[in-house]
Amino acid sequence: LDQIVKIAILGAGESGVGAAILAKQKGHKVFVSDKGLIKEVYKAELEQYGIPFEEGSHDHERILAMDLIIKSPGIPDKAPLLQEIIGKGLPVISEIEFAARYTRSFTIGITGSNGKTTTTNLVYHLLATAGMDVAMGGNVGKSFARIVAERDYPFYVLELSSFQLEGIREYRPDIAMILNITPDHLDRYDYQLEKYAAAKFNIVKAQQAEDTFLYNADDPNVGGQLEHYPTQAKAVPISFQMTEGTRLKVGGYTFDMSTTPLMGRHNYMNALFAVQVALQVGIAPEAIQEGLNTFVNAPHRLEKVATVEGVEYINDSKATNVDSVYYALEAMSRPTVWIVGGQDKGNDYGPLLEFVKAKVKAVVCMGLDNRKIVQCFSGIVENIVETGSAVEAVTAAARLASPGDTVLLSPACASFDLFNNYEDRGEQFKAAVLKLSEK
Ligand code: ADP
Repeated sequence: LDQIVKIAILGAGESGVGAAILAKQKGHKVFVSDKGLIKEVYKAELEQYGIPFEEGSHDHERILAMDLIIKSPGIPDKAPLLQEIIGKGLPVISEIEFAARYTRSFTIGITGSNGKTTTTNLVYHLLATAGMDVAMGGNVGKSFARIVAERDYPFYVLELSSFQLEGIREYRPDIAMILNITPDHLDRYDYQLEKYAAAKFNIVKAQQAEDTFLYNADDPNVGGQLEHYPTQAKAVPISFQMTEGTRLKVGGYTFDMSTTPLMGRHNYMNALFAVQVALQVGIAPEAIQEGLNTFVNAPHRLEKVATVEGVEYINDSKATNVDSVYYALEAMSRPTVWIVGGQDKGNDYGPLLEFVKAKVKAVVCMGLDNRKIVQCFSGIVENIVETGSAVEAVTAAARLASPGDTVLLSPACASFDLFNNYEDRGEQFKAAVLKLSEK
């Protein structure tokens, strides 16, 4: 991208605005277009940088006159405007691809169906606490383009969603990883797991022999599919076989997980990946152990809220699919009142039955439409109640729980029927729990 070009940026969320700022900084002519309404903070930023934009509709003619299109991850190729753009033969790239063209620094690209944010935060924490100059972003926090525009950091840790990976061409992470692949977002992929998996495997396509690909060797959708996704990168398997009790064995060193606040076996997997990265970039094992001990995860991921009258309350609002709930239930060591439900994503609850039978004493449905959950678990769990708000759900759960039990919010569903998003759901849950403790 040596010459100045006219760039249209579609979508003015974090990634679109980040791309606009970087493009403007590099001297390109930029126009931002969003079919919906643009958030005030982003509008203010675009104005501050003197970047023209439109909202509410796309000016097709103006956009089709550009040299390059940067598309936000939320916009599918099937969208009519995209079809026109592709039909005209205009190059379309993602914000990740665009940002990558402006840095030669070491990047670590993290994808998977579950555990991306946790692992991204953990890699960042291990590197940062060891004193490395590192930035974190992508699908979490700031966009990649925004942090590249800030300054050229020597290390970037990037969370990458399948939507973002659909739009990469030449970008090659120095270390790429696929944590796992389980059904999620299938509506965007014609309900075909292979299409979703192919988007994730895009992460290795452009990698070269000096790059590394860390993959989950236990996951049939990752380790079991390598032959279908050729890569030049050095492929390094990560497996539960590298754990022994609460210890991780990586690169000839042993790390102890019992001193970290991370709960659940899935987090051992996330930690194996993160520790492998830390070792590879040259961090001393003692510093890595120190980083594991001091890590604080993002909220809403098996987050301990409070213990009220002997009942422990855990907020796992981010568990928006069945697989993440599987690991949450697996991590439960006490009789559990499980708050579940919301917007169904075509869930198959079958994989959970074993844990539900063994650990769940009551199910509290929290959603507009709870039929499927009620059908699925009646006959297995004696107590199933239906509620329509966080306060109702917590009140019902508190009534059903006895001292020594755990109340777990781990919904397996999207939150949009009753809440703005999963954060809102988690915050309302926490507020209701804290209210209980005031009584
Ligand atoms: P993502 O960014 O991929 O959505 P998060 O780290 O935010 O991942 O975690 C999302 C949910 O999945 C949480 O409920 C968390 O407890 C659970 N989870 C985290 N890591 C894993 C994993 N490796 N496998 C399965 N579930 C996981």
